[in-house]
Amino acid sequence: MERGRELEPFTYEPPKLDEHDVRVSVTHCGLCYTDVHGIDDHWGITPFPFVPGHEIVGHVSEVGPAVTDLREGDRVGVGWQGRSCGRCEGCIGEEEHLCVEVAENAAWSPYGGFSTSFKVDSRFAYQLPEAMPSEEAAVMLCAGLTVYSPLRTYGVGPSHRVGVIGVGGLGHLAIQFAHALGCDVTAISSSPGKEEEARALGADHFILAGDKAAIERQELTFDMLLYTAHADLDWTPLMQALRNRGRMVMVGFPPVDVRFDAMELVIHQNSMTGSLFGSCAMMREMLAFAEAKGIRPMVEVMPMGQVNEAIRRLKENRARYRIVLANDDAV
Ligand SMILES: [Zn+2]
Ligand SMILES: [Zn+2]
Repeated sequence: MERGRELEPFTYEPPKLDEHDVRVSVTHCGLCYTDVHGIDDHWGITPFPFVPGHEIVGHVSEVGPAVTDLREGDRVGVGWQGRSCGRCEGCIGEEEHLCVEVAENAAWSPYGGFSTSFKVDSRFAYQLPEAMPSEEAAVMLCAGLTVYSPLRTYGVGPSHRVGVIGVGGLGHLAIQFAHALGCDVTAISSSPGKEEEARALGADHFILAGDKAAIERQELTFDMLLYTAHADLDWTPLMQALRNRGRMVMVGFPPVDVRFDAMELVIHQNSMTGSLFGSCAMMREMLAFAEAKGIRPMVEVMPMGQVNEAIRRLKENRARYRIVLANDDAV
């Protein structure tokens, strides 16, 4: 497809496998907002003609000669990253997601998971827990990792208060992970209708994002605020809601520049940081943790042929909470 246009059927020669690659026969692929950004070429990194899709589940159908840990028929999942350079500081430090070539190494390059067959470096194809349904596993590979990684990297646990800003595809998983890690969890959403669901997912408290007085009452409350939304916010009262050495972690993309009174950072030694999906080791840990704790995304499964309708649904904020596209033989 071309920039910003609807997707249309596209036939291509399957790319040749390199020695560490596997080919995956795709059964399911999650739809993430990053795919929409890719379609719109929001970051100027989209490979056209573009086949989106980076929450991919399927079975290995072909194995490169240097692959030792995967075999034909294995069920695997792939997230945003499809390979890495292997030489940079990030790769050597086992933080492959911080690879200097991460943009070029997206799973959708050259062609992503909204397809029947897909090639990937086997080091970024993960065996999935047996009991995890494929349509749920798909969502864990990007959304699950994106929210689990900062919770673990910044070490939140039983004595900590975590606020999850945004109850959507990312946020509904962040609430579950933070709850499973033993945190006291507050869901912060602009939709009053999401309170009941947020509490059912494990939130101990619920605050309306637009309720300034309620947020102001949280002064010096949170060890971590995890921004999973894509809306602009009144940032200063949220920064004031952090405890000493508290952390605002961004995993969503605000639509405009973030502005807040930086005095909050100084006087409470707070920080604001970003977090990008996660490393290979973190992916394996996340999958095992999700299985052990029974963390399950809420998904709507749609046939791959309805991808344009699925994208409209996502853009209109009607997905609850994540849409997964399934190929014909998997529906
Ligand atoms: Zn994604
Ligand atoms: Zn690298």
